[in-house]
Amino acid sequence: MDKKTDTKSKMYFGAAKLRIPGGVNSPVRAFGAVGRTPRFMVSAKGDRITDVDGNEMIDYVCSWGPGILGHADPRVIEKVKEACDMGLTFGAPTPREVEIAELIAELVPSMEVSRLVSSGTEAVMSAIRCARGYTKRDKIIKFKGCYHGHSDGLLVKAGSAALTTSVPDSAGVPADYTKHTLVAAYNDKESVKELFQANPDEIAAVIVEPVAANMGVVLPEDDFLPFLREITEAYGALLIFDEVITGFRLSLGGAQQYFHVTPDLTTLGKIVGGGMPVGAYGGREDIMRMISPDGPVYQAGTLSGNPIATAAGIETLKILKNDPAIYKRLEEKTKKLADAVRNAAGDKVSVNQIGSLMSIFFTPGGVKNYEDAVRSDLNAYAQYFGFMLDHDIYMAPSQFEAMFVSDAHTDEDITRTCRLLQECMENMH
Ligand code: PLP
Repeated sequence: MDKKTDTKSKMYFGAAKLRIPGGVNSPVRAFGAVGRTPRFMVSAKGDRITDVDGNEMIDYVCSWGPGILGHADPRVIEKVKEACDMGLTFGAPTPREVEIAELIAELVPSMEVSRLVSSGTEAVMSAIRCARGYTKRDKIIKFKGCYHGHSDGLLVKAGSAALTTSVPDSAGVPADYTKHTLVAAYNDKESVKELFQANPDEIAAVIVEPVAANMGVVLPEDDFLPFLREITEAYGALLIFDEVITGFRLSLGGAQQYFHVTPDLTTLGKIVGGGMPVGAYGGREDIMRMISPDGPVYQAGTLSGNPIATAAGIETLKILKNDPAIYKRLEEKTKKLADAVRNAAGDKVSVNQIGSLMSIFFTPGGVKNYEDAVRSDLNAYAQYFGFMLDHDIYMAPSQFEAMFVSDAHTDEDITRTCRLLQECMENMH
């Protein structure tokens, strides 16, 4: 097939590079890892996204996760429009903030008390401050390849674009700021045990993506999350699930409901804002009462609980709550895509899939941690990405990101994607 025209995207990218670092407002959007020009988008509806050159693509990025209902769901848009007419921001409490806090507590019962912020980064940063204030300890354990936003203390062996651009440890972060961040290996219980044994009274919290989705999708082994629950309890540390991706995606109650493991604190983002900038952190009441003005841990935000953003979030959560079968539909569609790849490529690739999250790694033998993930053949990934893009399928422009399926993906579009995945895999091997 002929390469699609991307003349206008190239023009915009040229102009963007003069005024914006890398021409983009978030690194992975630059397409650096796949050697292509990023598409500049103008609109999106359902499972399709359209660029400035008029290419309409089936979208499996879904804005990196918020789009579980697909783009511009009319029910959500209506609520946003209604909210806009009432005023954009008040900087004062609103009834919607009570409604969303109650809804979060209902759907994710461990989040008895929660606070809204404006991004996942802020949610995680604040949850960690809360854990440190509560335990009066400084150290935290994170996992290699897990990404928890771009706050200083967490840019250590991070995943996502920090992997793609090969700078897991960012310049501009003083070494002192990360000296309390200990790094363990995902799915490796021994590595966690060793850190606790070496620092028995110093670890405030273990933070984990319950399904890692920022080194590509990597599933927890059966006993990994229960083990984290046990060891944190044994050492008086808190367990924080970063559910910015998995929250309301793996199930209505997130990964904690899916795996039956209850953390002390949870961070949310993406779906909780229904496409608007929202993050949230919350958990056990006695821990969350540490937050100002109830307690001594300070955290604030001018636009926190913004009325437009909360309107989008509430409507999205209500739609999910009223349609529990959505999770089965999402799983079935995503499984079809995974099976198409497995059938065509056999064991030459490793396909990780859970719920509506999936990654194809160009390495045999399975991927269960960071070391396996980085063995993937990145040239093969770029080739696959380019093939799909040239056939109007918009996949994550990096090996180290998830592919997202939404409820708006039609059976017809899933079938078309399966056919192209199969053709792509057969051509590559
Ligand atoms: N935590 C996880 C698991 C994420 O995937 C992300 C972003 O992708 C974040 C935190 C940071 O969220 P945000 O980009 O909204 O700051």
